[in-house]
Amino acid sequence: MVAAIRAAMPGIRVTLLERQNRIGKKLLLTGSGRCNLTNREMHEDFYLTDEVERLKKILDAYSLCEEDLWKDLGLLTKEKNSCVYPLSGQAATVLNCLRLKLEEKGVVIRTDYEAGYIKKQNDRFVIETVEHKEKISADAVILACGGMSGVYDEQYKNGYALCKQLGHHILPCDPALVQTICVGDYFKGISGIRTDVRISLLLDDIVTATEDGELQITDQGLSGIAVFQLTRYLGEAFRAGRQACFLLNFIPYMKRDEWNRMMVSRRERMKHRSAEDFFTGILHKNLITMLLKSQNIAPGKNIDTVSEQDFQTLLDRFQCFRVKVKQLNDYRHAQISTGGVPLAEVDDTLTSTLVEHLYLTGEMLNVAGACGGYNLHFAAATGYLAGRSAAVSLQ
Ligand SMILES: Cc1cc2nc3c(=O)[nH]c(=O)nc-3n(C[C@H](O)[C@H](O)[C@H](O)COP(=O)(O)OP(=O)(O)OC[C@H]3O[C@@H](n4cnc5c(N)ncnc54)[C@H](O)[C@@H]3O)c2cc1C
Repeated sequence: MVAAIRAAMPGIRVTLLERQNRIGKKLLLTGSGRCNLTNREMHEDFYLTDEVERLKKILDAYSLCEEDLWKDLGLLTKEKNSCVYPLSGQAATVLNCLRLKLEEKGVVIRTDYEAGYIKKQNDRFVIETVEHKEKISADAVILACGGMSGVYDEQYKNGYALCKQLGHHILPCDPALVQTICVGDYFKGISGIRTDVRISLLLDDIVTATEDGELQITDQGLSGIAVFQLTRYLGEAFRAGRQACFLLNFIPYMKRDEWNRMMVSRRERMKHRSAEDFFTGILHKNLITMLLKSQNIAPGKNIDTVSEQDFQTLLDRFQCFRVKVKQLNDYRHAQISTGGVPLAEVDDTLTSTLVEHLYLTGEMLNVAGACGGYNLHFAAATGYLAGRSAAVSLQ
């Protein structure tokens, strides 16, 4: 939508093809219906990609135009912890602003049009529906088909199929910003708990990344923003046969010796308490029970009778609890997919390096942003720059 708006300059006719019956359906789901559209803290470090330098240039180029885009759309925004949302708090407002601008710019919108085939013939592109029912020809094409997230049928790879038909490569895709399914029989007992943690991802026992944030426990494993961020590394790691574990620190605001001192003195004061009561006030009751059980300590056992070694190991578990990750949840539950067309196959203006007058944008490209508005930012940035490049090249 952003690409179409920006490409629709005087003398250029733009047609937007959408396979669904309405445009912008996914946008309505974003940010739990509130649409976290960008982030004030913008940096290439918030993304994983094959071409960091190119990404940096794209983000820099868009930062000069971003204000103009939202102003042009008439969208007022608000900020919370650097995340930017529409002032209305509704994703529908963002979509309405885009739709009004598309209309004003005279963009022709064709819904229920699933592009299945594309080729270049005598310097023009010919696009055909999946059922071969209708052909459209164009001087330039901007592909903005998104990735695999939210897709029910894992065989569906249409945007990527179009890229392949034009000679582009597709790096393997995996779900990301998604719940994990983990190994352990205790998840049902602690399901629904939300708590702030420091969480590290270990791949083959090597710490790969660490996040601070909210952990959500499900009946199958771990979820929440901190986990989501780390899932961007997991798909590729699993395909390479690597073992993945999370290390959870439930007391992230204290150093180990500080935590130890506090708990030793607490034991002096509360030696009459059962193990369960002793830890009451620190974490959710069910988490305490789970941590005690993981160390084979009965919740009713008097804390003073727990051996010094067991007590120390237990304290360790509060700050260093290991959970083996079995798999990622599927694309239906994922906010984005990793992989796709290598960023190296477009230039700084999002023009394909392989096909003249072809532009690639958004989630189709191998750029996986963190939670916090980074993915919609990248989609808007690349849409804007691709639309502008296409318009300039045709004018
Ligand atoms: C539940 C959920 C919540 C999210 N929340 C946020 C958030 O708050 N902030 C954030 O930054 N990101 C969020 N994301 C991620 C974000 O929505 C995507 O990264 C972003 O929408 C990608 O934009 P895109 O334009 O590349 O692709 P999409 O938004 O996926 O758009 C692609 C469009 O192309 C159409 N299409 C595909 N193939 C064809 C074809 N062959 N012919 C015609 N049309 C086709 C699709 O139907 C779709 O409408 C969320 C994602 C999900 C699923």
